[in-house]
Amino acid sequence: MIHNKTISELSRGLAAGEYSSVELTTHFLKRIENLDSNYNSYITVTAEQALNEAQAADARRAAGNATPWTGVPFAHKDIFCTQGVRTTCGSRMLENFIPPYDSTVAANFKQHGAVCLGKTNMDEFAMGSSNETSYYGRVTNPWGTDLVPGGSSGGSAAAVAARLAPGATATDTGGSIRQPAALCGLTGIKPTYGRVSRLGMIAFASSLDQGGTLTRTAEDSAMMLNVMASYDPKDSTCIDRDVPDYTATLNQSLKGLKIGLPAEFFSEHLDPEMQTQVQNAIRELEKLGATLKEIRLPHSHLSVPAYYVIAPAECSANLSRFDGVRYGYRCDNPQDLQDLYLRSRSEGFGDEVKRRILIGTYALSAGYYDAYYRKAQQVRRLIKQDFDNAFGEVDIIAGPTSPSPAFAFGSKGNDPVKMYLEDIFTISTNLAGLPGMSVPAGMIGGLPIGMQLIGNYFDEARLLNAGHQFQQVTDWHTKAPSGIDA
Ligand code: GLN
Repeated sequence: MIHNKTISELSRGLAAGEYSSVELTTHFLKRIENLDSNYNSYITVTAEQALNEAQAADARRAAGNATPWTGVPFAHKDIFCTQGVRTTCGSRMLENFIPPYDSTVAANFKQHGAVCLGKTNMDEFAMGSSNETSYYGRVTNPWGTDLVPGGSSGGSAAAVAARLAPGATATDTGGSIRQPAALCGLTGIKPTYGRVSRLGMIAFASSLDQGGTLTRTAEDSAMMLNVMASYDPKDSTCIDRDVPDYTATLNQSLKGLKIGLPAEFFSEHLDPEMQTQVQNAIRELEKLGATLKEIRLPHSHLSVPAYYVIAPAECSANLSRFDGVRYGYRCDNPQDLQDLYLRSRSEGFGDEVKRRILIGTYALSAGYYDAYYRKAQQVRRLIKQDFDNAFGEVDIIAGPTSPSPAFAFGSKGNDPVKMYLEDIFTISTNLAGLPGMSVPAGMIGGLPIGMQLIGNYFDEARLLNAGHQFQQVTDWHTKAPSGIDA
């Protein structure tokens, strides 16, 4: 079945003339039409535009200037601005927002002639770990009708797991690529902060947000990152540094690779089954020639509290632009300016977004700034130093991605703190600005789980290499949920 092929297989098939991009695109569009009512993974499907792009890609290939991506279909998380195509960020606030420009990430894919199938569902403004906060309805995990796909990039993850796209863009502020990857049996990488341009990627928490990939294999993530990573002078936090060909080093041996295992990630709080599975996965890396070393990240227990001051603080500033005046949702019949602001924001934002704005505004207010925001930034520095020390001894760090496999809808929704703890293993990476990756590493009760690999700054190639080598000797990444070939 064509939809079971990976991005790299589809790319080779197109190059060999086994099918055209129009055929491929039509196949995926039909699947979305027939099956996505089960998952709700797309907010907007851009069928007509996708077919036009596919035609153009076929013509470009015929003219002899195709790249590996020319004609390959994929999907964008609905947080990346796409010129002329509605971009909602999962919010009522942007229900009718049609960006007049492309995000740099979207422009990069266009330049390669890739075919965008549509925009995927997500937690509102990327706030959440279960995709239950989207204004456009929750997303179902293809592994079980009562299960969340993770969040906030749950639509991208569900679409790839259900074979409604071979890969999708995503973003990760505290875990939103790695956690849904783990819960849906996928591979995902959040690059180093500054590796992928944030221009046109709607901001949640600017010092933490980073674009990345959701695919089935590490090789496919390398292919996606080859397109996504670029220096962008229009994003002042984007780093001017050569982008390596991430596919070129996938086959390197792992002999001598030093892997650190943080004692804090394998504490008695970790579910024993999860502990066993992740340790088995790490043993596979050891068999491939890696050496293991226990390390300490002594401040990691402070990452969730620090994040839930810093991220809401930045979100409260970023989301102040949605005021009903310039763009976005505007309430009916405002009585005066105050009423316009008040009701547009009350009606346009959902509960979780409001909760974050309230927390963030409080943490930044004059009397509390020092006690909360400055303190959290100091803790952030300690967390970064823990990693700096660790990377003095090891090349990569391994552990679990999430505390448990996919959980049931509603099971954490009433308790925000419970939900926030979903990212206990992923958040420290964002606070330090490091790259992190999740690869399928086992099954618990028939549900996929992930192993997280964390790298030093700009060491994405090493993570992808380790992930790819792992996938040469394991088959967790080939497991598919049942019912997808219906
Ligand atoms: N789950 C975390 C949050 O709700 C992280 C979200 C993200 O990475 N965008 O903030």
